[in-house]
Amino acid sequence: MSKKLTSREKDYSKWYNELVVEANLAENSAVRGCMVIKPYGYSIWEKMQAQLDKRFKETGHENAYFPLFVPKSLFEAEEKNAEGFAKECAVVTHYRLKTDPEDASKLIVDPEAKLEEELVVRPTSEAIIWNTYKGWVQSYRDLPILINQWANVVRWEMRTRLFLRTAEFLWQEGHTAHATKQEALAETEQMNNVYAEFAENFMAIPVIKGKKTDSERFAGAEETYCIEALMQDGKALQAGTSHFLGQNFAKAFDVKFASKEGDLQHVWSTSWGVSTRLMGALIMTHSDDQGLVLPPKLAPIQVVIVPIYRGEEQLAQISEVANRLASELREQGVSVKYDDRDTHKPGWKFAQYELQGVPVRLAIGPKDLEKGSVELARRDTLTKEFVSQVEVVDKVKALMGEIQEHLFNKAKAFRDNHITEVETFDEFKEVLKAKGGFISAHWDGTPETENKIKELTKATIRCIPFEGNKEEGKCVLTGEKSKQRVLFAKAY
Ligand code: AMP
Repeated sequence: MSKKLTSREKDYSKWYNELVVEANLAENSAVRGCMVIKPYGYSIWEKMQAQLDKRFKETGHENAYFPLFVPKSLFEAEEKNAEGFAKECAVVTHYRLKTDPEDASKLIVDPEAKLEEELVVRPTSEAIIWNTYKGWVQSYRDLPILINQWANVVRWEMRTRLFLRTAEFLWQEGHTAHATKQEALAETEQMNNVYAEFAENFMAIPVIKGKKTDSERFAGAEETYCIEALMQDGKALQAGTSHFLGQNFAKAFDVKFASKEGDLQHVWSTSWGVSTRLMGALIMTHSDDQGLVLPPKLAPIQVVIVPIYRGEEQLAQISEVANRLASELREQGVSVKYDDRDTHKPGWKFAQYELQGVPVRLAIGPKDLEKGSVELARRDTLTKEFVSQVEVVDKVKALMGEIQEHLFNKAKAFRDNHITEVETFDEFKEVLKAKGGFISAHWDGTPETENKIKELTKATIRCIPFEGNKEEGKCVLTGEKSKQRVLFAKAY
């Protein structure tokens, strides 16, 4: 039997770690804070990439690739960005090892191979990209530049968790250059909307769109827009960010263009990214004590067929039905695996596919051959029924949409049920302790109050939501005037 997971109620964080490993998504590596993404986990990431990439291209972007290393002098150029990321940078200082003169079996850094200029392993690529854009932009005709890069980045995080926060992670980073402020702002908003649409329609994760406060903003940005999701344990997760960078990087790298009128102006810019953290969001939004639950649109295997048989002859008869159903389903665009391995028992297979979140399981046994039926099990509801072999293809096809919708609605009901409006600080603390989730409260707009609340409760302002109640009020902590409610939560 495959391993039973610790229940979510008993220990949510342990459940998460066990699930990631047991469902073959990823595992820890020999490098602190860096993970190995296993084939099954990577195939889900590839599905996300394909969908996001399609959306980026539909909105006019192209992919390109820039170096992994950023010379320190370039990294320093935009001061706020540099200051913000400095404390978590890996830095290359040498380019060669040599045999240790005292122990020939060991290698040491060759002190003679010291780099003249240190190289920062990119924690984000604005610096190297803006240094490049400098050579690409002369006139308004060269704008906009709409580029995305799929890459790995390194941020030396102290407390890491598989997918959610790793020292090296995979992501995409969009970097765009525009002639006007309005155009850059529109791009920032557009890409935040692309993320939200992808999260909701594809990952079945409801998200709240909003902007970050000054203290949570990306280092070097004028505004950070974000999508925030709520996990089953009541903690929030920043699922994607889109930054309006103003002219900060254009000024730092002296990127100017001649306008139509002929005067020289600094370029306006944006950057936006989502990372392998989305895998964590996916897991913690839908999964249960049996393991991963995948929305059909992201499932590498949408349907698994398991034969239940004694002897070769029975297997041959079942395989005939199974292969026919599999090919009919494939014709309908459903991905199917027929698992007729004789190295594992059906019970083991059931548990394993449940653990790996395959949305639909079909089991065919000798009785089904007699009756012309199959047993159909849904992963999201853990329900089973017998369906006739004639109807099963249509039924499964319809189920793909139904399961996708059911997962979104369930997650949304949970999320909506975990947004609580509070008026006093006592209520704030009470709700946070008893229920968690997002707390919608008035805030006086100062970083001091934001910090104080963080110190007292560990809850931070996840975002100033774009939609919803915009009425003014009084700050929960200080009683000072507040322009609108903001969303607080404990967060990953
Ligand atoms: P940022 O460049 O900080 O705006 O981050 C871009 C995206 O990467 C956001 O969706 C973050 O949530 C995500 N992210 C930031 N740090 C990490 C990390 N250490 N591991 C995984 N994802 C991260």
